[in-house]
Amino acid sequence: MAKITVIGAGVYGLASALALLQDGHRVTVLEKRRVGQGASGGLVGALSPHVPEDWNIRKQFQLGALLSAADYWARVEALSGLPSGYGRVGRYMPLDDAYEAEKARGRIAGAARLWPAGFDWRVVDRAEGIAPSAAPFGLVHETLSARINPRMACAALAGAVRGLGGEIVESCEVEVLEGLSVIAAGVGSHALLKPYLGAGKIRGVKGQAALLSGGLPKGSPVIYGCGVYIIPHSDGRVAVGATSENKFEDAARTDALLDGVLEKAYAIVPALREADVLERHAGLRPRAPKPEAMLGQLDENTFVATGGFKTGLGNAHKIAEALAMMLRGETPDIPKDLSPKHHLTKRVKQPMPWQIKPEA
Ligand SMILES: Cc1cc2nc3c(=O)[nH]c(=O)nc-3n(C[C@H](O)[C@H](O)[C@H](O)COP(=O)(O)OP(=O)(O)OC[C@H]3O[C@@H](n4cnc5c(N)ncnc54)[C@H](O)[C@@H]3O)c2cc1C
Repeated sequence: MAKITVIGAGVYGLASALALLQDGHRVTVLEKRRVGQGASGGLVGALSPHVPEDWNIRKQFQLGALLSAADYWARVEALSGLPSGYGRVGRYMPLDDAYEAEKARGRIAGAARLWPAGFDWRVVDRAEGIAPSAAPFGLVHETLSARINPRMACAALAGAVRGLGGEIVESCEVEVLEGLSVIAAGVGSHALLKPYLGAGKIRGVKGQAALLSGGLPKGSPVIYGCGVYIIPHSDGRVAVGATSENKFEDAARTDALLDGVLEKAYAIVPALREADVLERHAGLRPRAPKPEAMLGQLDENTFVATGGFKTGLGNAHKIAEALAMMLRGETPDIPKDLSPKHHLTKRVKQPMPWQIKPEA
């Protein structure tokens, strides 16, 4: 078994370390700051499916990640003895437009065909806590979405890594790679990837979010409306976010854009206005050239697993599982688009099995 260094203790680095430890490797995680201080240390943790239409291999991969998440986080919790805040609570999406409502009804059949039995997508008239004025055309209620608490999840992953004998070294910035390495440094990966892929291949997209003291009953579904996620966390607190900013002056500062996000959330769930704002937070999502994660081998000794953009919390365990297979010399069944090579080129056309025409 190999001695492997993972660079970065966000959800990708920690999940990778855990998968590699479970394969019997000796693993050290080197972290510039502290565990979960990057994108993975935010407030919002929606684990939501793509809309069930125009299906493709990337949507199928993400569906697989969502379906396996409950078992994965239960294992992490058992290994660490710490909660992750994971819960499959479903999602409401208020419909404020007749056309959107028509499209939503059209997707009921898509969910029945594309999602496994037991998960569905329906349109309902109203939902507790959501202002009728925010949902004049009803609401989608789908039962596949889940939520996670990013900070609790990172702490649980770190506990599991240490529990299996992995070492996590904090305040350790890596500038030069040594030995068998996995680059999982989020936005910080751009410098480490430069010798392999050229400059600027991972950039940061700023996101601002807030944590409120309450406003929705525990166990309530996640709510997504007007581009804003409202996440009722397992501890009763509620996260609201996030902005998506390609241009910004200070990545760590929150500003009036977050006030705008909060106003949208208050219009959807009026009770949130009565809650205290406990924290305002800003972070950088690591975005590879394409919105998917970047996963693959860069040279004999170097692998990359980073760039989850908006879905990193949902996909990290599947990326880690695929990385471990690569280190075993196996070829994981993942979308080709995830490979570093394909991030730099056009999208790969990979049909779903039912889209392949039989040969004449
Ligand atoms: C506001 C916001 C909302 C989000 N909402 C969601 C959501 O609802 N659902 C979802 O699935 N995802 C969401 N995301 C995205 C998700 O958080 C990211 O995709 C995921 O956390 C990326 O994890 P990571 O491990 O790749 O990066 P990070 O968490 O950034 O981890 C990288 C780590 O590497 C360290 N590092 C950097 N450079 C070096 C170096 N040279 N040496 C050593 N260490 C280094 C950093 O300090 C950091 O700890 C959101 C992100 C933001 C910012």
